[in-house]
Amino acid sequence: MIISVASGKGGTGKTLVATSLALTLSGTGKVQLLDCDVEEPNDQVFLKATITQSESVSIPVPRVDKSRCTYCGKCAEVCVYHAIAVVKQVVLVFAELCHGCGACGYLCPEGAISEEEREVGVVEVGGSGGVDFVQGRLNVGEAQAPPVVRKGKEHTSREGTAIIDVSPGTSCPVVPAVEGSDFCLLVTEPTPFGLNDLALAVELLRKLDIPCGVVLNRAGVGDRQVEEYCSRERIPVLMSIPLNTQIAVLYSRGIPLVEGMPEWRQSFLKLFGKIREAVFARSR
Ligand code: SF4
Ligand code: SF4
Repeated sequence: MIISVASGKGGTGKTLVATSLALTLSGTGKVQLLDCDVEEPNDQVFLKATITQSESVSIPVPRVDKSRCTYCGKCAEVCVYHAIAVVKQVVLVFAELCHGCGACGYLCPEGAISEEEREVGVVEVGGSGGVDFVQGRLNVGEAQAPPVVRKGKEHTSREGTAIIDVSPGTSCPVVPAVEGSDFCLLVTEPTPFGLNDLALAVELLRKLDIPCGVVLNRAGVGDRQVEEYCSRERIPVLMSIPLNTQIAVLYSRGIPLVEGMPEWRQSFLKLFGKIREAVFARSR
């Protein structure tokens, strides 16, 4: 079963939920945690996994052969990302903007464009505490997160449970990260901002036809609008984590909740049971 853990906005406690769920399940069978929040992967801060393998992630970017180029401008015309420009007798490639789609090379009438690989990030594989760990890391200053997410997800195992920590929000890297999930947990907080971003995330998941449920973090801090929204939209609130100083201190020290407060393991086991029931009910 593949469970993604997402949030409409950052800082809601997504990492806390993903790491504690993975560690709780580690005693019950094969568990994988894939940190696909590649712009800011921080599950490793809590898991402290031993990394045993690292692979580079690159995308193909165009290289122009000046001896063949006639400066016709077709490559610039076709690039919707404005990653290539023709200015008089010069072709400029803005590699950071290039999505590696290959259209410019395909349509160049002179065959003047070849491709060269440019590294945008790495995927690391390791393990800790019975959890198989994978994390994607986007290189500093890079914008092309989806290829790193996709490379990380190539390691997803269908055996046991795979938990995918997704980037916050509803931007480009979120779609490849949640795609293929059997269920998505949305971690939110009971504030107007939390509600606004939760509704956007729910809309995205409905378009992708992925069932979801909510974990309410810092419960008690705001109002009841998130719960009312969930009830209206028939989205189950599967767990509540109260605003609690001890939980905040553990988080600030990089200690997983279920290690610092083992009594929470039972709650995470119940959470997993509810997800499993929802997934099985849907497949019937
Ligand atoms: S399409 Fe090819 S020939 Fe035309 S400007 Fe671009 S690289 Fe040069
Ligand atoms: S490979 Fe695609 S994104 Fe990159 S410069 Fe060419 S057309 Fe633009």
